[in-house]
Amino acid sequence: MVGKPLHTVDVRIATRAWRGKEAVDVRPLRATAEYPFLEVAQPLPDLCAAHGRRAVERRGTWIRFLRTGRGSEQATSGSLARSFSGEMWRALRTLTATPKVEISAVVYGEWPVCGDCVRRAKRLRWLGHTLAAIGPAALVGSVVAFLLTGPGQVPILLVLAAFPGGFPLGVILAIFAYGDARALIHCRPIADETSVIIRAHPEFADAAQGVAGSAG
Ligand SMILES: [Zn+2]
Repeated sequence: MVGKPLHTVDVRIATRAWRGKEAVDVRPLRATAEYPFLEVAQPLPDLCAAHGRRAVERRGTWIRFLRTGRGSEQATSGSLARSFSGEMWRALRTLTATPKVEISAVVYGEWPVCGDCVRRAKRLRWLGHTLAAIGPAALVGSVVAFLLTGPGQVPILLVLAAFPGGFPLGVILAIFAYGDARALIHCRPIADETSVIIRAHPEFADAAQGVAGSAG
């Protein structure tokens, strides 16, 4: 999650149907009719939404929303885990088909980010790489140990690091780390196709209203 400031306020950001190239192919997202594919339709100030500080760059980001018990909720580590475990439980209880987590909307925006947000995203991506590498590294280590020392001599910790450490735990945690690295903006559940409400620093909120107003 984004390093949260103490006080955030709700800011309504105007959206409209995606007008970019018709085939947005950002795996696993596609602009389909199954869910609205939206884009930010108003100018954004040169301030980081999370911290209200001067932005150092703009990051093109697809924010995904999931159909959950709370409505159309932003896909974050938390909502994904909750949604997926809820679906697993439902599938087990009712013995129905495989659980699936459904996307309900996608919003594209070029969000201004500050240096802290950029560094944080970088750290999380490296954490993701490291977590994803645990399994393969431990597996190779186990095989080498087996070849050098023979069966029964492979250190148990090395085996546990490969399984369940690297697979599946490391991989799952890596997916969360990559997801959090991309989570630059916190949104309220999305209610319609004309706007998204984000939780932002008050200075960003003021500036956003200013630039939206001056743009007409
Ligand atoms: Zn920031």
